Amino acid sequence: MIEGCDAGLILNNGAMENYFAEVYQPIYFVAANDLTETDTVRIRVGLIEGSSSKPVNKGGEEKEAIITNLNKNKKEPEPLPMNPSTYCFPENFWTPHDLEGVSNLVVGDECDNLPTEQQEISYTLLEQPEFFIVPHSDLEELKLVELIQVCNDTAHPNQNGGSIPVEYKRYRYDYTTNSFKISWVLEPYKGIDGYVHYYFKNQQSNQSTSILFDYVTGVCYTKINKPWLTLIENISDIDEPTKIPSSDDKQAFKDFCGHLCYPNERATYVLVEIIQIHESEHMNDFEEIISRSFPKLAQKIEDHKDLCESYDETVRINAEKVIYDMIENFIDEAISEFQAKSGEPNSETELNNERKIQGRPSITNRIEDYKNALKNRFSILKDEVCQKCSYEEQN
Ligand SMILES: [Zn+2]
Repeated sequence: MIEGCDAGLILNNGAMENYFAEVYQPIYFVAANDLTETDTVRIRVGLIEGSSSKPVNKGGEEKEAIITNLNKNKKEPEPLPMNPSTYCFPENFWTPHDLEGVSNLVVGDECDNLPTEQQEISYTLLEQPEFFIVPHSDLEELKLVELIQVCNDTAHPNQNGGSIPVEYKRYRYDYTTNSFKISWVLEPYKGIDGYVHYYFKNQQSNQSTSILFDYVTGVCYTKINKPWLTLIENISDIDEPTKIPSSDDKQAFKDFCGHLCYPNERATYVLVEIIQIHESEHMNDFEEIISRSFPKLAQKIEDHKDLCESYDETVRINAEKVIYDMIENFIDEAISEFQAKSGEPNSETELNNERKIQGRPSITNRIEDYKNALKNRFSILKDEVCQKCSYEEQN
């Protein structure tokens, strides 16, 4: 036992050392061999500034003394700082001991500095336009741009629209700064189980963030912008005589009805909004897969844990890699499932799937709106009804 602020040495594997490293709690300080109930023994455990992130608890009476885990991985003992005031806690702290003289000197660790509030793991699926920019790779030094296109299918020269789920990328293009930004970093918190767990934090806002998934949809203007076609961009176009001349009332009605079929059966008028809704419905199907399987991923992420005793930046970065892989695989699997459900390109399954989508209320109701708007303009159409699609059985 050494009085004052002189630092003692630690007997470590037979050698006297300033530090010990990679030891596990609890650590016992044997202060005396026999004590009576009224005896006191002074133990002063110093803390070297900068070697840890939490100061010694200003322990008064009845308080537990807390020092932090030095968490040093250095093999060579370093000399102690010359000025003892940088590590010496000059006051006394007291901790009750039992008859055997055992006190609970609680040694803290990195978890003492962590918040304990659990943050929800969530996702957001975003609908993105044609030519959506993604990084070629998620490696920071490899920021080659890739454009996600949905209208470049040369096998479909008459394609109205297209849509595709996007593979997971952690870096996202920021259109305001024209650069890629990392969409999240893993932020640790101390779970109720006493382990380090993680949530996603946005570095810019410093707030918790959801995982962003992307789905690109697009109307293929380059393919539908034909001289013989008239694009009806929105419902107010119906009142434009320059768009729909009065002589064309019946043709317009017939073409609107033709949007109930897949492929669309129309000669002149193209309802752009219906094409867009159709593609968004594909996204809804993708979202259905995601929302069903995401809770499992969220659970996996929440269950990922690291030891408080050995937690440091290396551990956190490693957790980022592990969790990133989980997300990447999750999206890859969701895409595979989505493609299997949609059917092979040009297969009967695919065609049936497309026709089912075309029969959804979001599409049929909107076509009804267009028909009614047309009937409002041309009263002659008021009793007109749609004919069946060419592929349906005629009665
Ligand atoms: Zn489709």
